[in-house]
Amino acid sequence: MKILIINAGSSSLKYQLLDMDNEKLIAKGNCEKIGLSDPFISYKHDGKEEVFAGAKNHEEAIKKVLDILVDKKGGMLKNFDEIDAIGHRVVMGGWIFKESTLIDDKVIDEIDRLSEMAPLHNPAHVLCMRACKKVMPKIPQVAIFDTAFHTTMPEKAFMYAIKYEDYEKYHIRRYGAHGTSHRYVVQTLAKVLGKDVNKVNAITCHIGNGSSITAIKNGQSVDTSMGLTPLQGVVMGTRSGDIDPTVVQFLCSHKNKTVDEVLTYLNKECGLLGVSGVSSDHRETSKEAENGNKRAKLALDLLAYSVKKYIGAYMAVLNGAEAIVFTGGIGENSFEAREQILEDMEALGIVIDKDKNKNFKRGQIELISAENSKVKVYVIPTDEELMMARDTKEIVKNLKKSK
Ligand code: AMP
Repeated sequence: MKILIINAGSSSLKYQLLDMDNEKLIAKGNCEKIGLSDPFISYKHDGKEEVFAGAKNHEEAIKKVLDILVDKKGGMLKNFDEIDAIGHRVVMGGWIFKESTLIDDKVIDEIDRLSEMAPLHNPAHVLCMRACKKVMPKIPQVAIFDTAFHTTMPEKAFMYAIKYEDYEKYHIRRYGAHGTSHRYVVQTLAKVLGKDVNKVNAITCHIGNGSSITAIKNGQSVDTSMGLTPLQGVVMGTRSGDIDPTVVQFLCSHKNKTVDEVLTYLNKECGLLGVSGVSSDHRETSKEAENGNKRAKLALDLLAYSVKKYIGAYMAVLNGAEAIVFTGGIGENSFEAREQILEDMEALGIVIDKDKNKNFKRGQIELISAENSKVKVYVIPTDEELMMARDTKEIVKNLKKSK
């Protein structure tokens, strides 16, 4: 079964073609700068990378990706009919979508209706779903929601203590994000522990450019650090994370900015970038810190400290976790970040083995806690696309092929 996975943003469209008979990646790429000047499409397969002319809108991008995939020279498919299903990543499923869902017109309208909560993403997802429907009307499509995994949170975790009527009327609450990644790593953790996922209690730390920490009880998300939007939570590449809302008012009045402008500032100019003044990239900031840049060091300290606090809070929420998992670009690759986050947590039963943490082959699952650590600490590379493809396969496998 061949599945095309699509992850559409406002001006980009990442794609992966997977063979789900053996869970192998066939090809992948990105349509970048859609609708902007100099758009292009990258295409990687068999260890090679090619670049093609880009697209002026999402529909054209889909058509071009399909042309590339069936091209006689470098294409990996004979024709479109080889694609059995398409899986779309959807950033915001709100309170409506609790699991991955087969797409029809009603589902697309609902995703569109949720655009207010994810104005940069949901409109692009909708455009892409409609474009796929037009170009490949008979191929089933599935929506996989970043928020779905967190819909198991209890009210006390997802509610903000605002007026109840406003919560009811406007659906203002915590939704979280990165759900597909947290779900993938906890399922992988369960396999590693040799347990049923429904019996796993863990804290999963997805730390990349955007980051979120999740408390998982009996395989289900019971709390997560991101909120109504991905601005809340730990310190990130360009996002401030948790902040007193009064800061917004201060910045508006002192910098003569609108609320929208300050929210853009908190999303795009803060975090590692804002504090260090150097870069949103963890590697770059680390290099600067090593060279003696104090603000770069401070930015890294803030990030690590904010993650440590969430881990502490979730240890309390879970009454102790059996494992902590690191994933995401920083979580998987920066031994310094992991060490800094988990230092001085022996009182909570968390002890890292510094050698193991530093010296293992990247890209593999690794146990990095010391033998005397009550809580096991793992690095587990995430694979959101594989998780999406598994969901898509599960949902479409019983559909009658109408191609
Ligand atoms: P992501 O958003 O998950 O792709 O993660 C991006 C972040 O991971 C950036 O801040 C990168 O600097 C960081 N990152 C990626 N590779 C490494 C590495 N080898 N060492 C440290 N940080 C890394």
